[in-house]
Amino acid sequence: MGRKLLLDRINIEGIKTYDVYRKSGGYDAVEKALKKMTPDEVVEEVKKSGLRGRGGAGFPTGMKWSFIAKPEGVPRYLLCNADESEPGTFKDRYLMEHIPHLLIEGMILSSYALGCNKSFIYIRGEFMWILHILEKAIAEAYANGWLGKNIKGSGFDLDLHVTPGAGAYICGEETALIESLEGKRGNPRIKPPFPAIKGLWQSPTVVNNVETLSAVVPIITMGGDTYAGIGIGRSTGTKLISACGNISKPGVYEIELGLSVEEFLYSDEYCGGIKDGKRLKACVPGGSSVPILPHFLVTKTANGEQRLMSYESLADGGFATGSMLGSGGFIVFDEDQCVVRNTWNFTRFYHHESCGQCSPCREGTGWMEKVLHRIENGHGHMHDIDLLWDVQRKIEGNTICPLGDAAAWPVAAAIRHFREEFEWHINEPKKCLEKNYGLVKEPVLTV
Ligand code: SF4
Repeated sequence: MGRKLLLDRINIEGIKTYDVYRKSGGYDAVEKALKKMTPDEVVEEVKKSGLRGRGGAGFPTGMKWSFIAKPEGVPRYLLCNADESEPGTFKDRYLMEHIPHLLIEGMILSSYALGCNKSFIYIRGEFMWILHILEKAIAEAYANGWLGKNIKGSGFDLDLHVTPGAGAYICGEETALIESLEGKRGNPRIKPPFPAIKGLWQSPTVVNNVETLSAVVPIITMGGDTYAGIGIGRSTGTKLISACGNISKPGVYEIELGLSVEEFLYSDEYCGGIKDGKRLKACVPGGSSVPILPHFLVTKTANGEQRLMSYESLADGGFATGSMLGSGGFIVFDEDQCVVRNTWNFTRFYHHESCGQCSPCREGTGWMEKVLHRIENGHGHMHDIDLLWDVQRKIEGNTICPLGDAAAWPVAAAIRHFREEFEWHINEPKKCLEKNYGLVKEPVLTV
C-alpha cells in the first residue's frame, strides 16, 4: 500500500466540514508556518521538497515562486488554477469536492510564502456544485480566523475568493486564466512578460494548480527534505492519477512517484487490469494532450527497462518511444478501441477549444479534424497520412500557447505508432467500419 499525503483523510466522515478537518490535524501546517517560519523559510521548504507543478508541465514549484517580482507598494497575487478540463483528467475536482479545506490551507501557506494578501481560486464553470462547496469552506475558514485580517494574531492578512470561468479549456492556460479573471475574453497572452512580473492587473502573479497547492500542506507538515525522500529521483512526493478507459477499476488514485506502470495498471490496489479480460492496446498516460503509447511501450521502455510512473521514466525515449506524466490523466484502451477514431475525437476537442489567435492552431486543428474524420469514415487517401503529419509539424512550436502542441502531439504519436491502422482504414474502409484493427505489431528495433 503506497503512502498517501493528500487522500490520507479522504474517507473520514464529514472531512468536508471545518470541524472534522481541524480535528484531523487540519490547519496545523498554517499554525506552524505563521508561528515559527518566515515566508522565505516556507519557500525554502518547498524548494527542498522538489515539488513540481501537478497541472501538466512539471515545472519546479519553489523555483517558480522565486521568480515573483517584489516591487515596493505593488500587490502580488496567487491564483489557483482549478479549471481542470483536460480530457481524462479529473483529480483536482476530486480533491476540491471531498476535502476542500486542504486546498484552502495550501493557499494560505502559499500566499504567506509569496506575500500575497488577496488570492483567487479560478474554477471551471461546469463545476458549479464544487464552487458552492468551496464557498462554504472559505466561509468556515473566515469564521474560524484562518482568513481575513491578522490571521491568528500573526499580522498576516489574506482574502480568498473563488471565481467561476465560463467553461473554456483554454482558460486553464495561465495567461488566459488571468485575462478571464480580469473580465476579458480568455485569450492567452504573448510571453514575455511572464505572470511573475506582470500578471493579474499587471501585478506580479503566481498561478498554481489545485494539487500543487494542496501538496504544500504535507510539505510544511513533514519538512521539505522528508517529502523529497518520497518518490524517485527528481520525481518527488506523491501524485494523483485519474485512471479511466477500459480498466476494471477506474477512479482517482494517489501513488508514490516511481511506482511501476505495470503495478499501477494491473494490481487490484489500483486499476485492476484491463476490463473483461481483454488485451491492452494502448495507453495515454498523462491526459489527452500527451503522446499515446502502444501496448509494447506501456509497461516497458524501448530499452526493455521497467516503465515507472515518474516524469523521467514516462518520457524515456523522447516522443519516439516515450510520452509524459502530464496532468496524470491515465487513459487505457483495450484491443477493441480504434486509435484513428480516438485521435479524431481528441482533435475535434482541440479544434473546438482553440481560441483562434494563431493561424497554425486555428486552421491546423480544423484541417486535422477534417482529414481524420474522412479517414475514419472510409473516405481517406494514402497521402492524407503525410498531410496530417505535415500539418501537425507546422503547428508544434509555432503558436502563442501550448494548446497548439497539445493538439499536434496526439496526432504525431498516433501516426508514429499506429500508421498501419491508418493505412488499413484507407485500404479496407468497409472492413474497418465493421471491425476495429486490433493490436499493432511490435516493430523489431534495430540499434
Ligand atoms: Fe489560441 Fe491555439 Fe494560439 Fe493557444 S495556440 S493562443 S489556443 S490559437
